[in-house]
Amino acid sequence: MDIIYNPSTYTFQIALPETGEIVAEAVARPDAEMAYLRVVAPELARKTDHCAGKFPALTDRARRAAFIVLAGHVAAGRGIVALNGRMHRTTVEVARVQGSQPEPYSITEARGVLICNCPDFADAGAPVVEGTRYCKHVLAYLLA
Ligand SMILES: [Zn+2]
Repeated sequence: MDIIYNPSTYTFQIALPETGEIVAEAVARPDAEMAYLRVVAPELARKTDHCAGKFPALTDRARRAAFIVLAGHVAAGRGIVALNGRMHRTTVEVARVQGSQPEPYSITEARGVLICNCPDFADAGAPVVEGTRYCKHVLAYLLA
């Protein structure tokens, strides 16, 4: 995805990497990114819009999560994992999500609760909606 800011129209334009064709244009960069997503991955865009519409607090993270999915950075987890050196049948690594660090983040699920080992999740920066914390990696897992 190539993003070009056009200062004469005050818009962000997004071109297809292969052809350079401008497929999306918007005043705000996030809007241009969503318009691009609707062109290249309509079903993923529909799920992202649905998430943002239902939970506005997750709008930014859902958009960034969609681009993690688009990049193919959500992989299957290892299944039952050890915590504190002991195997827990109730704790399952459901996905590994490549983020900004060399090592992918791990999404685990225990008793219906999803947990990510990224700083956003640990620092409580990620928003809590209806009792569940959502970082962009958890959202990418759910959108994938
Ligand atoms: Zn995370």
